[in-house]
Amino acid sequence: MSSRIAATLIPGDGIGPEIVEATLAALDALGVPFDWDIQQAGLAGIKSAGDPLPDAVLDSIRRTRLALKGPLETPSGSGYRSSNVRLREAFKLYANVRPARTLIPGGRYDNIDLMVYRENLEGLYMGYEHYIAMDGDPEAVAIATGVNTRQGSHRLLEYAFEHAIALGRRKIAVVHKANIMKALTGIFLDEARKLHKQKYQGRIEMQEVIIDACAMKLVLNPWQFDALVTTNLFGDILSDLVAGLVGGLGMAPGANIGADAAIFEAVHGSAPDIAGKGIANPVALMLAAAMMLDHVKLGEAAARLRRAINDTFNVDKVRTGDLGGMADTKAFTQALVARI
Ligand code: NAD
Repeated sequence: MSSRIAATLIPGDGIGPEIVEATLAALDALGVPFDWDIQQAGLAGIKSAGDPLPDAVLDSIRRTRLALKGPLETPSGSGYRSSNVRLREAFKLYANVRPARTLIPGGRYDNIDLMVYRENLEGLYMGYEHYIAMDGDPEAVAIATGVNTRQGSHRLLEYAFEHAIALGRRKIAVVHKANIMKALTGIFLDEARKLHKQKYQGRIEMQEVIIDACAMKLVLNPWQFDALVTTNLFGDILSDLVAGLVGGLGMAPGANIGADAAIFEAVHGSAPDIAGKGIANPVALMLAAAMMLDHVKLGEAAARLRRAINDTFNVDKVRTGDLGGMADTKAFTQALVARI
């Protein structure tokens, strides 16, 4: 019997508790040895501790270095900073990893199997912004500063190359805009070229693609790519595009990997429009749990979970409403557990 693994569990807001319950049922059926420390954050955190990211959550993740997280709401106009951004900063979660795989054949795009690696802590996305007043208009000019560092680019690129090679990917595309933003995204491309030459030549092919062309190529022929690695803002946009190729956010998991911790979540939000109705699709969070199992070297359990999702979708034809099916969250979960 392997030793037990301590992990933080954040049920989150909206449909969070519903999809977390479904995911725990799947993990229980797999018999994986997690000791969960359950913590409230988001609106639930404000209610229980007056902060969307209470210290207890940070302390817990500091101890376990591993978390599975439901979606968190940040009330707009409340003055609270996004808990997701705070978590990224607190644990230096520099790599955002988003796989996109076709799970239900017969859609507009079949046989998609793409990895997206996004730098998670730097770049224009960080929102270092200010206005300059002119001619009586206090907001006449808006200025944003993007910061990319060689070191930050290096650690994300190294993670992406290593991870893609471990998955058996044959090529990885470095997505940039170095023709125009020569310093900001040039440093990322330059570091990619150096690192590839030094360490990865012959192990994985490196493509170079400009962001705008990449968007077009992904729509016209996504099969030409195996994996994409890019800076924060480009990755934010491209990873949603890629999720769209495989049926939308309801099927998209994400991992935030850092020096000090790793946090796994669904890409979608708290879906307030369907919260409490028991009809949410739990698959994105289940796939995030599968990534978490891979991360802690329980790859066999991860494969069993992915196979069970596939069989529930494609053999039993059991699907939730967002995928055109009739099952509610409980019925889907029961069918899935029976497949484990
Ligand atoms: P959303 O992803 O919550 O919902 C968009 C649409 O997709 C809704 O119609 C919703 O019903 C549907 N949907 C999403 N997940 C689904 C699922 N699992 N099953 C079935 N349908 C699903 O996006 P939003 O409405 O823009 O955001 C709502 C809240 O979530 C906001 O407060 C936002 O800040 C937060 N959010 C959190 C995260 C996170 O914690 N990682 C990510 C995105 C948004």
